[in-house]
Amino acid sequence: MNNENDPIIAQLHVLRASFAEQLPEKIQEIETCLGELRVGDAAPDALKTLHFLIHKLTGSGATFGFSALSTAARALESTLMAIINGKAKLTAVHLKSLSEDAALVKHAAMFPDAEKDTAHTPIIPIQSGPITQSIFMVEDDELFAKDVALKIGPSGYTVRCFSNLTSFREAIKDAQPAAIIMDMMLPDGNGADAIADLRETNNLSLPVIFLSSHGDLSVRLKAVQCGGYAYLTKPLDINALVDTLDKATLQQKVKPYRVLIVEDSQALAMLYSHTLKAAGMITETVMDPMNIMATLASFVPELILMDVYMPGCTGLELATVLRQQEKYVSVPIVFLSGETDLNKQLGAMQLGGDDFLVKPIQPDHLVLAVSNRVSRYRILRSFMKRDSLTGLYNHTTTKEYLEYAMAVAKRRGTSLVFAMIDLDHFKSVNDTYGHATGDRVIKSLTRLLQQRLRKTDILGRYGGEEFAVVLIDTDMENACKVMENIRRDFSQIRQEGNGVGFTSTFSCGISAFPAYDSAVALNDAADKAMYDAKHRGRNRIAIANG
Ligand code: GH3
Ligand code: MG
Ligand code: MG
Ligand code: MG
Repeated sequence: MNNENDPIIAQLHVLRASFAEQLPEKIQEIETCLGELRVGDAAPDALKTLHFLIHKLTGSGATFGFSALSTAARALESTLMAIINGKAKLTAVHLKSLSEDAALVKHAAMFPDAEKDTAHTPIIPIQSGPITQSIFMVEDDELFAKDVALKIGPSGYTVRCFSNLTSFREAIKDAQPAAIIMDMMLPDGNGADAIADLRETNNLSLPVIFLSSHGDLSVRLKAVQCGGYAYLTKPLDINALVDTLDKATLQQKVKPYRVLIVEDSQALAMLYSHTLKAAGMITETVMDPMNIMATLASFVPELILMDVYMPGCTGLELATVLRQQEKYVSVPIVFLSGETDLNKQLGAMQLGGDDFLVKPIQPDHLVLAVSNRVSRYRILRSFMKRDSLTGLYNHTTTKEYLEYAMAVAKRRGTSLVFAMIDLDHFKSVNDTYGHATGDRVIKSLTRLLQQRLRKTDILGRYGGEEFAVVLIDTDMENACKVMENIRRDFSQIRQEGNGVGFTSTFSCGISAFPAYDSAVALNDAADKAMYDAKHRGRNRIAIANG
């Protein structure tokens, strides 16, 4: 593992050496700071700088191969914290225990760990792919930040480091990293406070991973309260960080849940809204139930959080009205009420509620109840939109997406290609090998298309053995290359039915925007081209030239 030729490992060694080099200076700073303390000083103020200096050692010592230093610094830090929290004036006893602890820190600074068993031995995770994600890391310990950046780089994360909150706040305004790694204690403030503030004022919804030298409940709680995604302690386990980043950034790819809050109490509405936003959701609030219709239409919520007792009409009545309209039959409704009477709760369910939460509601309970409901709602809706054999979009949905993609292409002035695919002589495949084999051929083409097309392209099952593909932001020349490769490769896939091997082919018709400038025109042109391909002998691609 300790391969000096590996550029990353070489750089890690350089960092470690710089840390060791700077250590005497750091110890000197701590001693100077201690020397300036006098009996009778007001504790919190006089100790702030000292605390900051020591805190850095606690966090980074073990990372750079000085575990004993981390331990000693931690002991000094807790003595210091006890004095700070006591808020009394400094006494001679205080000063004595601080200087004793500091002497141990100084001593530990002279003894690095044996090279082989240091926490610094880098465990470089496997390269996960060519796409890297941008991560913001706010950490005043520059060496530590560089160390982390080097170690997580190979896992596909590019780290941009900020040594204080001010520079981070400036950068986050116009950047959208995949996640934030935030130190708890920074020179210009507390990391959790800064995130809480950004969630509030800038609607920040990114996952935040907090780092701290402390596992204290109170600090962890602070991280949870501002919607922290995870809390990791120093010395940092790099594999745990990479795992956490993987999970956090994957979750980020899920479109945020949209929740409508109907609640007449402003304070409660704000509380629910903050709690859900901190969990990455988008919320909108309606305080007067009479205004709900307009908001429903514009916001299109995936769940309604509904107060039961409101002026004008009750939540139960409102739910009944909503359920009478086809559009809103399936949107989940979760009632919120102080009502503990079971009969009333059952009544609410009968009137179309999906869940009933009793106030006061624990924040994590609220987030869980809402996210479970919304994710189930999304799955149900995807069943309605997707074809059951292949999991591809059905005919109607594909056409909807084509319309939408056309509108986007027109607005942006980009091109777009529509391709229609029809399996050749498929009736005879069924007749010869049976329907089940036919289904398998359909699935094998689905798989090939899914592998070869980009995630942004739209792939639908247009009919029995017909597929439609919308290639976004692509011109005819490139689309033809892509489809031609797929055609060739599909024709070479060995299919099997009744123990007999065979191959299958398809014909394809292609049309493009702007040559055809409406969804209907694209559709008709591709359809005609496809029949052209059939007539010219099948297993080929024909282009509609408008
Ligand atoms: P062509 O090359 O002209 O397209 O000939 P074809 O036999 O493919 O065309 P035709 O439209 O006559 O037949 C389509 C066949 O596709 C008939 C139908 O049984 C079969 N088919 C449609 N949907 C499915 C399906 O979901 N599973 C299976 N196994 N077969 C299907
Ligand atoms: Mg109320
Ligand atoms: Mg057909
Ligand atoms: Mg066919």
